[in-house]
Amino acid sequence: MKTRRIFLQKASLSAIALSVPAFNPLAAMTDSLTLSKDTKTLRVAIMGLGSYGTRVAEAIQKCARTKLVGVISGTPSKVEDWKSKYNIPAKNCYNYENFDAIKDNPDIDAVYVITPNAQHKDQVIRVAKAGKHAICEKPMAVNAADGQAMVDACKAAGVQLLIGYRMHFEPNTLEVIRMRKAGEFGDIRFFQGLCGFVIGDPTQWRLNPALSGGGAMMDIGIYAINGARYMIGEEPIWVTAQETKSNPDKFIEGIDETITFQFGFASGATASCLSTYYMNNLDKFYLNGSKGWAEMQPSTGYGPIKGETHKGPLSEPIVTHQTVQMDEMAAIIFDGKKPEVPVNGEEGVKDMKIIDAIFKAVKTGEKVSLNLG
Ligand code: NAD
Repeated sequence: MKTRRIFLQKASLSAIALSVPAFNPLAAMTDSLTLSKDTKTLRVAIMGLGSYGTRVAEAIQKCARTKLVGVISGTPSKVEDWKSKYNIPAKNCYNYENFDAIKDNPDIDAVYVITPNAQHKDQVIRVAKAGKHAICEKPMAVNAADGQAMVDACKAAGVQLLIGYRMHFEPNTLEVIRMRKAGEFGDIRFFQGLCGFVIGDPTQWRLNPALSGGGAMMDIGIYAINGARYMIGEEPIWVTAQETKSNPDKFIEGIDETITFQFGFASGATASCLSTYYMNNLDKFYLNGSKGWAEMQPSTGYGPIKGETHKGPLSEPIVTHQTVQMDEMAAIIFDGKKPEVPVNGEEGVKDMKIIDAIFKAVKTGEKVSLNLG
């Protein structure tokens, strides 16, 4: 109990979190994190010390069983800063040319790839060949074929591949999923996912197709895709999509600005989603069933995630998403824990197949069938 209490404090939970509701998704998670002398700590090196890499590094400082022990970067000054800030030994610091040598480093278990999207494939495959577990940011790749190649490489190397789907560990999200599984919304009939922000600097890698593989869809629209799947609890069987651009000079060929897309599901449920770099304050999920509904806004931002259902406000603990994610990933890697919603490479490939189909639907104007199994 003592170790669990420490974790709860570390995860910066509010006092409310410590009162015990009938079902508490965070409690369910942390129970498995009770640390015993046999609990293994996940020793992680971060590749790509940019804005999200920095956020993950800070979040790891509050983890119960994950430790930042190494870095991979092309910028020596950043490596120096991180070495002193996080007490990282020089022997655990690599650059993009020499990081294959990580295979000879017994003090690193996993590499978290947090670089531009188009680099993920080669970097994850190199991590796998070095015999280390790979954690990779979303989108896992720039298309499904690359994603599958990453899955295959990790399998061949006998290492795990996990995708940074932090919402799969977020307590209010898990509560809505629990309610849906318990039948509290009845038959699910509709989902709406609205995801977007106005992107700034036109020279950034996110607006360069060679580095990003696409625009808003790869970056933020993927949350609506992934959300449609975990909120409805089914895989879509068809997609239709339409694209608009307010500024074709900034959003060049290969960079989508705004795409509206629709899914159909075998149960008869449908989804209607919006992915955009044209609108701010767009972070909303709505789920409708025959007996009730859930609405979340913000639904996928860094939090706090807020929302309500037909039964009242969502009131699960507020957590630092990446802190919970990393400790849950330690449990997945070392203890074989099965998360409520998968975060493995196969899960990432499903989202990539859907993105491929959305781009095809935009191009052809046709309804595109999906077979995600
Ligand atoms: P960023 O631009 O802030 O950082 C990218 C890092 O990659 C930098 O350290 C940069 O130096 C390095 N890099 C290496 N080669 C580069 C190149 N050729 N061009 C540009 N940068 C290069 O980006 P970010 O926001 O940290 O995003 C990185 C990844 O993390 C992306 O895949 C993104 O989708 C993902 N991300 C996920 C979340 C989330 O909530 N899960 C949030 C933000 C970003």
